[in-house]
Formats: sequence, C-alpha cells, structure tokens
Amino acid sequence: MRSAPWLWLALVALDAVAIPAQPPTLADLASGKLEVVDLSYPLNAQNAYWPAENYRPFQLDTIATLENNGVLSKAFASPEHLGTHLDAPNHFVAGKPGVDRLPPESLFGPGVVIDVAGKASADPDFRLTAEHVKLWEQQHGPVPAGAIVLLHTGWGRFWNHADRYQGRDAGGRLHFPGYAADAAEYLTKERKVRGLGIDTLSVDYGQSRDFEVHKVLGHAERFGLENVAHLDKLPTRGFYVFVAPMKIETGSGGPTRIFAILDESDRN
Ligand SMILES: [Zn+2]
Repeated sequence: MRSAPWLWLALVALDAVAIPAQPPTLADLASGKLEVVDLSYPLNAQNAYWPAENYRPFQLDTIATLENNGVLSKAFASPEHLGTHLDAPNHFVAGKPGVDRLPPESLFGPGVVIDVAGKASADPDFRLTAEHVKLWEQQHGPVPAGAIVLLHTGWGRFWNHADRYQGRDAGGRLHFPGYAADAAEYLTKERKVRGLGIDTLSVDYGQSRDFEVHKVLGHAERFGLENVAHLDKLPTRGFYVFVAPMKIETGSGGPTRIFAILDESDRN
C-alpha cells in the first residue's frame, strides 16, 4: 500500500529542519561528557606578582613528610592578589563586599572571549574601549546578561617570564594591556556582566595610575579575575565559567580556581 503523499512531504520537511543541539546539563558535566578547560595557573615562588611594597612571592614550606611523620603536609603564604585570582568589590571601594561575601550565584555565568591579542601585540598599552566591545557585538552578538567576560590579550605567553609579563620599562613603569573604564561601565551597566577577567596582572592597563576599572567593578559589586590562564584554548562564545575563589573572611580577593565548561550547542 502506498503511503499518502502528504505523509511523505511531511517527513521530507521534518528532515530538512535542523534539530538544534540541546544545551548541556549538569548531568552531562558530572558524567564527564563535557570538555573542561582549567583557566588557573599553578601557584609557585616564580609567579609574577604586583610589584608594590609588602607584596611578596608565593611561599610553600613542607611541615610534615611521609618519611619522618607518616604524612605529607605543607603550609603556604601568599598575597591575596597573586597567581590566578579574584578581585573582590572591597579591593578599591570602601563598604563593598569582600571575597567571602560574594553571592555564590554570582560565580557562575556564560563566558565570552574578546580577543585583542593582535592589537595588544602592536601596542602593549592597548585598552579595550566600549566602542571596541560594541564592534565585537556587531560581529558576535550581544554579550549575554550575567556573562563573565574574558579579555584575551596574548599576555599568557609571557607568564613564565615574570619581567616580560610585568612589562617594566627602564623607569620602572609597567606596560601591559587592559580594559578602559568606559568598557567596564558599558559591560557592568548595559550588559550586567558578573565579572571581567584578563590574562595580565590587572584589569586596568599597566600604565594606570587611578585603577578606574577596578573602581567601576567595585562600585557595581562585580569581581575582576586576573592572570587568567589558557584563554587561547577557548572559543569566542559557547562556554560557561565556574569561579571558585578561596573564602578568606574580609579578603579583598584570593587565589581562584577557574574552569570553562565548553558548550558545543552554542557555537557561531
Ligand atoms: Zn587583583
């Protein structure tokens, strides 16, 4: 018996409609189906850190060994703002939450990468402006509400060369790229991002004197992420970011584990 022509047509039509990929679930993450990119550097005494008074290198001491004590145990000391770390709103603005008071829901969000590695390579004092962000949005779509934005400057390639990473000139001034204040204003106010990250020592560029971007973030009660690793391994969009800072009571920030969870269903 021949099937009705309308049925055949309907099947052809159904086949022609691409079925959109489903967004990943936490169950997919738990079962190991999703690719996870670790965006944190290992902490060690060679890590570049902010060259200011009272800052000091990461320090790790062994306080018990398997040979002598039957257990391996170490003690560490570190500035809060060393290695891959989070800047809390109270870092630059009085009365704002410390790292221990950031709402846990604020530490997860859709991620986007804004790639300025070419521009930063030509100009180490490059700053991402609101205009640059709007041009990026024309190409890639709006930065999603609640996003965690990651600025890829290419500085990660200098991570193991602390002097080059700081970009210190003969006069001791620092040169590395960053966000401009108007980009931070646009992203926090218009796009309601949860945080701004970067693969350099600071969300403000190296030449900054007044740390405007830090202040915009502090006033908006959003966080910064600095020395974020492996941004070259991420797509422009189509991933989620999980941020897990150490919960230092009253802390102005702290060493942070950051993971990107890739979402193949959201690629463009
Ligand atoms: Zn910091």
